[in-house]
Amino acid sequence: MDKERYHRQLIIPEFGEAGQAKLTNAKALIVGVGGLGSPVAFYLAAAGIGTIGLLDKDIIDVSNLQRQILHSTSRLGTAKVKSGEQVLKDLNPEINIITYEIQLDDKNIRQIIEGFDIVIAAVDNLETRYLLNRVCIKMGIALVEGGVFNWDGTVHTIIKGQGPCYNCLYPEVKTTPRVPGVIGPIVGLVGSFQAMEVIKFVLGKGELLTDRMLLIDGFNSAVTEIKVKINDQCPVCSNKN
Ligand SMILES: [Zn+2]
Repeated sequence: MDKERYHRQLIIPEFGEAGQAKLTNAKALIVGVGGLGSPVAFYLAAAGIGTIGLLDKDIIDVSNLQRQILHSTSRLGTAKVKSGEQVLKDLNPEINIITYEIQLDDKNIRQIIEGFDIVIAAVDNLETRYLLNRVCIKMGIALVEGGVFNWDGTVHTIIKGQGPCYNCLYPEVKTTPRVPGVIGPIVGLVGSFQAMEVIKFVLGKGELLTDRMLLIDGFNSAVTEIKVKINDQCPVCSNKN
């Protein structure tokens, strides 16, 4: 381990070399290598999370660059996972990057997420959120949710038994996909909170957002939280099912 690289986190009381070793052994999968996935990937790679999976089927489009800070104009047309891999390996050659240039679906999800300790939902569609929630609950894998809309963002961590799942909070409904507006820094804020959740989860220290949800109001510069509760009738996480 490169102690000099991690010096500023090694001297944090809750961290130390034992904490760094936990990060080195951790495996985190980032689903969506866009606006939210960019800061998550940067911070997890820089912190030394030993194995990072990047999953995204898209290539870089010029309209992504207003907020997807992992990518750049010189790599327009490149697969986002390849662009991400290049940047992260350059940032921290000590870590492993696994890339999945595919669309996550019912058939491939189990095989992909098996072996990861934690999954970060950094996606822009409800279908993938519900799919990740269902399968992570079933497989007992922690899931860090993040969402953005215009100036607003939310963060919530889902661990079975410790708080509600995505379906408890938003019962599954069919909706027509829409493209939300988004100001660049809000994905930076939400993604940074998501990365923080991952680091705390791996360390086993600090308070996770499992029974509360963080609400970030960028327009008024206000961060608040609401308590969230398990739905006993939830078809996904309730033990009755
Ligand atoms: Zn539930």
